[in-house]
Amino acid sequence: MSSLLQVQSLAKAFGGNKVLEDVSFDIAAGEIVGLLGPNGSGKSTLLNTVTGFERIDRGSITLEGRRIDALSAYRIVESGLGRTFQLPSMPTKMSVMEVAMAAATQHHGFWETLLNTVGARAAEKAARDKAAALLDELLLSHVKDLPASGLSGGQKKLLGIVCALMGDPRLLMLDEPTAGVHPNLRNDIVQVLRRLNHKGMTVVIVEHDMHFIREVCTRCIVLDRGHIVASCRPDELSSNERVLQAYLGG
Ligand code: ADP
Ligand code: MG
Repeated sequence: MSSLLQVQSLAKAFGGNKVLEDVSFDIAAGEIVGLLGPNGSGKSTLLNTVTGFERIDRGSITLEGRRIDALSAYRIVESGLGRTFQLPSMPTKMSVMEVAMAAATQHHGFWETLLNTVGARAAEKAARDKAAALLDELLLSHVKDLPASGLSGGQKKLLGIVCALMGDPRLLMLDEPTAGVHPNLRNDIVQVLRRLNHKGMTVVIVEHDMHFIREVCTRCIVLDRGHIVASCRPDELSSNERVLQAYLGG
């Protein structure tokens, strides 16, 4: 398998707080990888640096052979990396469909090409069709005309994935997709991610729920105090000394 994302010797500090010290890993095309680690170990910070929401202090980030660590978050989305947030917030008045369609306009390539070739009205229809197909695939068709702010926690997470997918990413990074989510919807999220992965999507998931990790992921990367301490299959985690040490402290 070819390497889709390469992170090399990445370091990031906030003031004197060295959150990521020397982080290196590769994600191959087609993988579905869990990013684990105790609270405060730097998982969200790692996602934020890879997706351009935080600048790195040292190291490099390469997506499909192209350096992306100096690009804006916007350009990184364009170059094929979609993400969701740990705590999705939704505009109060917009419907679920409108939120999904608005995500298309963030994707410069999709929107610009359409505007230039078919005009505004047809471009809007194309965005609506694409949003409708994704809302259907992610089990949100029945709520598409409701205000997005009224969705349950799990539905907001699914809508976050829809928005990320509007940009046709090759790599999808999810921050705690099941935290606070009702068990029924949690299983829906498992199915959705498996289906996306079978269709070829590469996925990196920050997640605490070990059952979820075992059901979904083919490999785990474990962070502890700014370093990667393990890269192994989910079933190997419980016998890995450095993983146990990370979670038990010491
Ligand atoms: P995790 O997602 O693994 O729980 P985080 O990446 O959120 O961990 O946080 C790791 C550390 O970085 C924490 O000590 C946190 O306080 C600090 N941190 C994260 N983001 C910022 C920020 N924007 N400014 C200052 N400190 C931050
Ligand atoms: Mg976090």
